[in-house]
Amino acid sequence: MLKFALVGNPNSGKTTLFNALTGSTAHVGNWPGVTVDKRIGTYKKSDDPVDIVDLPGIYSLSPYTPEEVIARNFILNERPDCVINIVDVTNLERNLYLTTQLMELDVPMVVALNMTDVLDKRGDRIDVKALEKRIGLPVVEISALKGNNVDTLMSRAIEAIKTPRAAVSVLKESALGSAISNAEIALKLKEVEAPLFHAVKLVEKDTIEVETHPAEARAAEAFIKENLINDQFNGDTEAAIADARYKYITQHFSSTLTRARKQSYDELSKSDKADKVLTHKWAGIPIFLVIMFAIFHLTFSENFLYLGSIIPSFGEWCGVEGSAAKGVFFAGGLNSPGVILFNALDLLTSSIGGWIGAGLEGLGVNPVLISLLIDGAWGGIASVLSFLPQILVLFLFFSILEDTGYMARVAFMLDRIFRRFGVSGRAFMPMIMGFGCSVPAMINTRTMADEKERQATVRVIPFFSCGAKMPILLAIAGAIATMVDGLNADLITYGMYLLGIVVALVSLLVMRNTTQRGEASPFIMELPTYHIPGFKNLMLHLWDKAKHFIQKAFTIILVSCIAIWFLSNFGWSWNYVGEEGMDQSILASIGRLIQPIFTPLGFGSQLNENGWVFAVAAVLGLIAKEDVIAAFGALAACLGGTLLGGMEEGVEEVAVMVAATGIDVPALISFIAFNMLTVPCFAAVATARGEIGKEKFKWTLLFWIVVSYLVSSIVYTVGIAVWSIAIWAAVAVLTTVGIVAYNKAMDKKENEKRLLNERK
Ligand code: GDP
Ligand code: MG
Repeated sequence: MLKFALVGNPNSGKTTLFNALTGSTAHVGNWPGVTVDKRIGTYKKSDDPVDIVDLPGIYSLSPYTPEEVIARNFILNERPDCVINIVDVTNLERNLYLTTQLMELDVPMVVALNMTDVLDKRGDRIDVKALEKRIGLPVVEISALKGNNVDTLMSRAIEAIKTPRAAVSVLKESALGSAISNAEIALKLKEVEAPLFHAVKLVEKDTIEVETHPAEARAAEAFIKENLINDQFNGDTEAAIADARYKYITQHFSSTLTRARKQSYDELSKSDKADKVLTHKWAGIPIFLVIMFAIFHLTFSENFLYLGSIIPSFGEWCGVEGSAAKGVFFAGGLNSPGVILFNALDLLTSSIGGWIGAGLEGLGVNPVLISLLIDGAWGGIASVLSFLPQILVLFLFFSILEDTGYMARVAFMLDRIFRRFGVSGRAFMPMIMGFGCSVPAMINTRTMADEKERQATVRVIPFFSCGAKMPILLAIAGAIATMVDGLNADLITYGMYLLGIVVALVSLLVMRNTTQRGEASPFIMELPTYHIPGFKNLMLHLWDKAKHFIQKAFTIILVSCIAIWFLSNFGWSWNYVGEEGMDQSILASIGRLIQPIFTPLGFGSQLNENGWVFAVAAVLGLIAKEDVIAAFGALAACLGGTLLGGMEEGVEEVAVMVAATGIDVPALISFIAFNMLTVPCFAAVATARGEIGKEKFKWTLLFWIVVSYLVSSIVYTVGIAVWSIAIWAAVAVLTTVGIVAYNKAMDKKENEKRLLNERK
């Protein structure tokens, strides 16, 4: 099968094009560095299907970053049939810099001029015919986002592979041209593949190249010295070559683009103006925190804009008092959009459960079977699924922030803060991805240059509460909101997210001063221009999330719920104990065994005879975090007898647990904290093990257990008795002193080592 590679600068639209060509839903972000590894899909609209490979974004083919190495090795070693070079026309010169390097390889190649929709909007124009002629490659104008011309691009590429292409270099006429030609001849004699490309790299003194061909490298250097070329750059051939490329680009290619000056200038200044406020030196971060809270408020609040506190009688005005619509729209004043969606779906799922139950009873089905299907399986799934709308609304907002280019700016601002904690702003990208799912987030850390910094980042990623943990947060926050007046679900969830972030930063600080000692690596990032998010892109994101969530609900979670039902309805001698006898069930006896572990955290032995459900739920979370709430859903019918009613699915189940076990608010918050911070689900554990390595992974497991246990007990003890802050403060001071002393000792040791080495 044919294999085409997508190569281009970060943020030039490679993944968008990849999705358009292959119909997949890979993550697209207005943010450099989203695609870390290569990804393969298939284009099926041609006569023969074509494999499309999405490579990480690169600015050049030098081996300085992992991305560059991945892309370079792929092109050189796996020899794609064609390279599709994506060029962002709104940034023509810089993008063509890579093009001039790709031209030095002899693979067939086409240039895809992307973002032409932006060009049209600005009124700029590009003379494609002229560019094609000067560059000597097929050039196709496309818009990956709108899907314009992508099929033409593919047919031009398929056309291009029919005729072999000779490697050419724009450097041949430059001062170093003769040196490059000489090196090329030497490499040709050695029968090296792609001699021109390697010759340029040799003259550039590219580290990989000099190692592989030391003799030729010396010859090239001698030649340059002898002929006294390149004086201007003081022997820095790399700079000389970069300069020559840019000179060639501005001389020969730039004139093909005619800019409608004024307009693009206005646009630029608009972006600058926005940045003056949004990335302000000290207001930037507070603005970010306010934006985040606004998002949580829009998604989770039952008291939209706090209107309920001013005008509590919306329901009466609209004449819906007492009807179902009251609960959907006006639970507390006015509901926020996310909550309205949530309530609407909730009405549907609970009705479905009721209908099926009634239907089965009517058919005379065995009540034990009905209990399994309705209470066990459906109860569990529904309590998780009902949160899907809110999860999607939250992710919609996150995607918008990311796609507009705002998140890239947040990373830039946070770099200054992160640096103090020993990591660079580069770590922010995987962390933000962690809000979706830890697995891709951990993989994304691969672009981090410093290995110790990377391992530390992988370890804290689970602290960024993922989508699967959201039902835990929402259900329990909802229940707490009904227990404490004036506390709303939006504030609790926002607070828990912040807690996760704070714990992550503190852990990073501790690790970077003890086991993962080191300085933050430098962070250079180009800020993308602001733009309006593409609707299709956003919907793809959400669809992907929804699909994954529903799939999980009807597989892992369904199986878990059925297992929970069996274990809670049968005793050790396989006797059916039923709802009344749940005390004697297998699950209850296992739960009671592990329950004392959680006593310092508030949800252990201090609860009454039903208290084991919290211990069981916490352990089930290791399989999938959704299982925590699903377990409550599956057990609620037994514990609550008849459900309380008048509350949303999920929230109601937690309320039943609260009533049945006597758990208090501090313990509930500690329970959320524990689930958020402890060992993540199976999938994330496996990924972390792969990324960190077997040896260090043992410590990672221990780290998660210790952190979650410690933080949750702090939350609980402070929650029940504020004075205990004093104890924890003392612990913190002692730890700090310990770390500082350890650091001093290590520094001394390192210094001694260095001195010893120098003397040798
Ligand atoms: P990659 O880093 O090269 O993979 O780039 P992405 O595919 O992630 O896209 C980067 C950003 O550019 C995203 O916000 C896309 O929505 C946007 N984008 C991609 N192609 C186009 C296009 O043709 N027109 C416009 N206006 N935006 C685009
Ligand atoms: Mg990409």
